[in-house]
Amino acid sequence: SRLLSGSSGSGRLAGKVVVITGAASGIGKATAAEFVRNGAKVVIADVQDDLGRAVAGELGGPDTACYARCDVTDEAQVAAAVDLAVARHGRLDVMFNNAGITGGNYAGAPIESLDMADFDRVMAVNLRGVAAGIKHAARAMVPRGEGCILCTSSTAGALGGSGPHAYSVSKTAVVGMVRSAAVELAARGVRVNAISPYAIATAMGTRSVREILGLPSVGAGAEEEEEEVLRRVFDEDFNEMGCGVVLRAEDVARAAVFLASDDARYITGHNLMVDGGFSVG
Ligand code: NAD
Repeated sequence: SRLLSGSSGSGRLAGKVVVITGAASGIGKATAAEFVRNGAKVVIADVQDDLGRAVAGELGGPDTACYARCDVTDEAQVAAAVDLAVARHGRLDVMFNNAGITGGNYAGAPIESLDMADFDRVMAVNLRGVAAGIKHAARAMVPRGEGCILCTSSTAGALGGSGPHAYSVSKTAVVGMVRSAAVELAARGVRVNAISPYAIATAMGTRSVREILGLPSVGAGAEEEEEEVLRRVFDEDFNEMGCGVVLRAEDVARAAVFLASDDARYITGHNLMVDGGFSVG
């Protein structure tokens, strides 16, 4: 299939059982494909049912990938996604708490007009959803004394002014949650790490860049056009910001494979920047 083309079949994650939230699109989808390519079995957890089922189908069907509707703001649905992985495959090795929303508008609004309902919604998905994911992954992993939890933060969590307020603070808090859980779980064999991407060519990334540049939004299904817009935007406008490349969801996926692999067995409580140097510029 298209998602699996270029398969190397290295088996670095052979037999690992993985739940990925937000896996119907973008970084989560690319990571699901990269994990399967490396031998893992994945549960695609998302709220976009049609896209999620299609991704699971493209990744090889029920033995390799299945879809679970999972709104991360509903703890019971997070618990159910974990339970589905355990019921199907006997255990959970990797939990990737990746679902996220930007809320607000990337172009920014004055803090005097901060929308508190939007603030709560962003925190419910980006922070509370991650906390629930860590909680239920730990429930499945601690009794076995092993496991790996990954959580998507952002360069917007490391640098003020890089995103809407609620988004930025939710992503900072994800790193705090990761550190807190990592300390507790280290002695129990479970590693917890964050990954912080800079702007990535996904639905979210494209929408954010459009907002920043004041471009009109485009409808769903215009992926190729969005790729084109991102290339132009990054090449012409964002290069000066230290990146110099257009980051792809696959770049984040490969970092996730590393952190989930035994090569990273002593890495925990870390926040891995996947940002082409943006955050140190
Ligand atoms: P995306 O919009 O392509 O994918 C996000 C996925 O999360 C979607 O499939 C969406 O349906 C799902 N989702 C949203 N709310 C959900 C909920 N309540 N429960 C379950 N699933 C939900 O965006 P992406 O760029 O792939 O984003 C993935 C993660 O990466 C997010 O946490 C985002 O904040 C982070 N991130 C993205 C960028 C970027 O530029 N794209 C940069 C840094 C960090």
